[in-house]
Amino acid sequence: MLDYQAPQDLLTDRVILITGAGDGIGKACALSCAAHGATVILIGRTPSKLEAVYDEIEASGFPQPALCPLNLETALEKDYVDLADQLFDTFGKLDGLVHNAALLGPRTLLDNVKAEAWLQLMQVNVNAPFLLSKSMMPLLRAAPDASVVCVSSSVGRKGRAYWGPYAVSKFALEGMMQVFADEQDGTSAIRFNSLNPGATRTSMRAAAYPGEAPEKNPEPAQIMPAFLYLLGPDSKAVNGQALDAQ
Ligand code: NDP
Repeated sequence: MLDYQAPQDLLTDRVILITGAGDGIGKACALSCAAHGATVILIGRTPSKLEAVYDEIEASGFPQPALCPLNLETALEKDYVDLADQLFDTFGKLDGLVHNAALLGPRTLLDNVKAEAWLQLMQVNVNAPFLLSKSMMPLLRAAPDASVVCVSSSVGRKGRAYWGPYAVSKFALEGMMQVFADEQDGTSAIRFNSLNPGATRTSMRAAAYPGEAPEKNPEPAQIMPAFLYLLGPDSKAVNGQALDAQ
């Protein structure tokens, strides 16, 4: 999908929410969507990082974004419902939702994983995407062709030793995507797909592979064609698919 050529106005008039928008792939996704005309809603846990992305979008003259600090580890269902209410009042619809934020967590034998670390990771990587999707459904239904992108991983499609709760959480995300996709198939214009970014130069990649030369992998900006394809109208007919960005 790296050869997808997005027209400059691909996402004009679209409202797209991205979690983990302050760093790595989520940041690149926010900048790229804004550069293609979208109004982006920046969700993340570190306000200073979100503000930097907000400033970069404004300085570039792209549509004014919305900034919503939210810690997915501690957010309650009411926080997601309140967010949906605010977005409904401001925008009236949501055209795109990117479940990007995630924790890598402990990489060790599964039987060595502490219960607390397991629960923390599942809260961010699985429970938060579910609660966010659920609360945003009325807004997604109000858009002409909404797209939900679940950012997955190769270890969410084939289990691998020592990838711990992270791998299990990505399987759960893939499962959630498939169930939502099947439910919406033929009943709404909302599509749900998963996207495996592949090895990408971010702090999560560096933490997972400390011995690897970072230059070996593409920058987040280089894998954006796949995100743009899934968030724009060219992927209207694509639903329930597990795709690879690279
Ligand atoms: P980074 O660690 O660089 O970025 C993760 C983002 O998630 C950060 O913005 C982080 O916020 C945010 N985040 C983490 N915890 C929370 C929380 N509790 N509440 C709100 N936001 C949170 O990772 P990547 O950019 O590499 O990863 C993005 C996605 O891509 C993930 O889903 C990852 O699993 C997936 N992926 C990445 C690959 C790679 O090679 N990079 C390969 C395969 C999949 P903050 O910056 O404030 O900490």
